[in-house]
Amino acid sequence: MLLQATFRPPLDFFLTPVRPVFLQGCGLPAAWAGQSQWRVLETGFGLGLNFLATWLAWKNDPQRPRLLHFVSTEACPVSAADLFSKAADHPDLLPLAVQLCAQWHGLLPGLHRLAFERSQVLLTICIGDAKALLKEQSFEADTVFLSDVNSPDQARIFDPHLLKAIARCCRRGSRLAGSTATRGLTDGLTQSGFKIRQTLDLEAQPDADPAHLQAVFNPPWEPKKAAEPYQPKPRSPARCIVIGAGLAGAACAASLARRGWQVTVLDTNTGAASGASALPVGLLAPHMSPDDSLLSRMSRHGLRATWQVAKSQLLAGVDWQASGVLQRRFDASGGLPMHWPEAGEHWSRWAGFEELHALETATGSVAQSALNPETPALWHAAGGWIKPKRLVEALLATPGIRARYSVNVAGLTYTSRASQDGCWQVLDADQNCIAEAELVVLAAGFESAGLTNTGANLPLQAIRGQVAWGPVTDASVMPPFPVNGHGSFVPAFPGDDENKHWLMGATFQRGNNSTSVNAADQTAIYGRLQQLLPRTAEALKTSFDAGQTPQIQAWAGVRCVSPDRLPLVGPLNDAAQPGLYACTALGSRGLSFAVLCGELLAAWLHAEPLPIEKRLARSLLASRHHFTE
Ligand SMILES: Cc1cc2nc3c(=O)[nH]c(=O)nc-3n(C[C@H](O)[C@H](O)[C@H](O)COP(=O)(O)OP(=O)(O)OC[C@H]3O[C@@H](n4cnc5c(N)ncnc54)[C@H](O)[C@@H]3O)c2cc1C
Repeated sequence: MLLQATFRPPLDFFLTPVRPVFLQGCGLPAAWAGQSQWRVLETGFGLGLNFLATWLAWKNDPQRPRLLHFVSTEACPVSAADLFSKAADHPDLLPLAVQLCAQWHGLLPGLHRLAFERSQVLLTICIGDAKALLKEQSFEADTVFLSDVNSPDQARIFDPHLLKAIARCCRRGSRLAGSTATRGLTDGLTQSGFKIRQTLDLEAQPDADPAHLQAVFNPPWEPKKAAEPYQPKPRSPARCIVIGAGLAGAACAASLARRGWQVTVLDTNTGAASGASALPVGLLAPHMSPDDSLLSRMSRHGLRATWQVAKSQLLAGVDWQASGVLQRRFDASGGLPMHWPEAGEHWSRWAGFEELHALETATGSVAQSALNPETPALWHAAGGWIKPKRLVEALLATPGIRARYSVNVAGLTYTSRASQDGCWQVLDADQNCIAEAELVVLAAGFESAGLTNTGANLPLQAIRGQVAWGPVTDASVMPPFPVNGHGSFVPAFPGDDENKHWLMGATFQRGNNSTSVNAADQTAIYGRLQQLLPRTAEALKTSFDAGQTPQIQAWAGVRCVSPDRLPLVGPLNDAAQPGLYACTALGSRGLSFAVLCGELLAAWLHAEPLPIEKRLARSLLASRHHFTE
């Protein structure tokens, strides 16, 4: 999908006084006082002033909702420089604009979730045709800003289908404000179920209340929502048990605690990140495919979500590094899509002289094969390395989470209760109740399979993997950034002993859930390194020889995958087992997927704006293997 050539307005087009027209026009901030969440829908993000002003109003309001969602459509996003230069006229908005600009990149067509204020202010920016993109959402807006009504592209703005798409995202009582009230627009809004409250023209009445257009969604008919059988019943925060303190469990716990849930995380091990998430260091890199597959798009959404947490809560250079990743290609698979737009280069592009030269300097002739015109290397500019344990610890530190370790969950039972949500009991091997809650999230990796309480196991497969890692003794043979393509090599990350280490991974053994390490895998890992980085392999040869260097370590863990290799996220069967959710099957990309999946699970649970397109979200539903439409 490529951006269509679209009208791009001049910068001075976005001059409407945003606070009186939009915020006050919708009764904000008073309207959101004491609410748990508030959802704003805007058409026409423009230079982002409405978003920044709403964010500032939220920040300054002691009565603010716990979570502010701002969903905005934009046909053609301006540059970060333009965002910044416009905000410079508003000193109070400037510090927020700086934060917005720092995340304003890689905006390919589709949805993007940007998170601020420790993920309490969530901007979902929808790039492309507003009508089509609003169909990819299923939430109810409390407030609507019609920001682009001054656009010369009036036919698009007054398109009755767009107004209907906006109405579909409203609840009875949703308030709308716009800067212009022409006859065509007010007629269209009326036909879509809005009652026009006020239409004043400032030029004609300069002293009048500057709210040009105000309306409220209150149709004389009962608004119909498209039947969505997979849409779980929205829930209010109560008690939640998350089983598993790895990446998946920690991410879900953090997303739920931020929304007011009292979360208890249970894990059979003695501490957090003891399963697959105990990997010493992992790679974050976008997945690339010529058809920009679902997995590729998911990987970019996930990367954005993980980096947001890393950059706001972890230590750069110690816990993570956005170093970029070079992907060597040994065959023609995994190239860039044919018409890869400029915005895509934020994520990945063909490797250029700079990266190949840097690699060649460190690793000799390797760059020659990376330069192979048949299978050129890729440079994942948005890639890097991160320590899973640090990410898990940061997520579990979210207020509202309590973790209990050395607790082995053997089963679940459900008790329904009149006039309130039923209750789940978590049982040990002797059928004793360990804990109880209205919501349970299965995030126990491969072990989630047998915890569903239905007799039918989740369709999960175990894939064992081993990595080798050791101290950097000769920095001159280390590549300047991680390299993947045949296994993956992280060259120099700080270990717990503060020395630099390298890590080479990983083996794949399907249907194997053993975590013991073995010598055959070390040999296989060395074979991969020889192909990926021959000179580095040569330098590490003696280290790999068994018994020669005890400082080379091995670690093995178990990945868990679903039949279609995509995560399982959401309710298992909300009708029969209300309040039983899963977040697992993160496969080999738990670092990219976990934070995003936590947010997706919370969005399903609260009928919030989705962080990704509905089509993608449905492809990940935990119930999809039983689900038929
Ligand atoms: C060799 C290898 C290399 C990898 N490299 C990368 C990489 O470079 N990049 C990347 O993104 N991903 C990588 N991964 C994948 C990543 O590690 C996983 O996707 C991720 O850790 C999965 O997280 P999880 O929370 O689903 O599972 P886990 O981390 O396994 O967590 C599950 C938790 O559930 C607990 N548990 C299980 N059963 C019970 C029970 N009955 N009661 C209570 N608690 C229970 C376990 O103790 C465990 O702590 C790699 C994985 C392996 C094995």
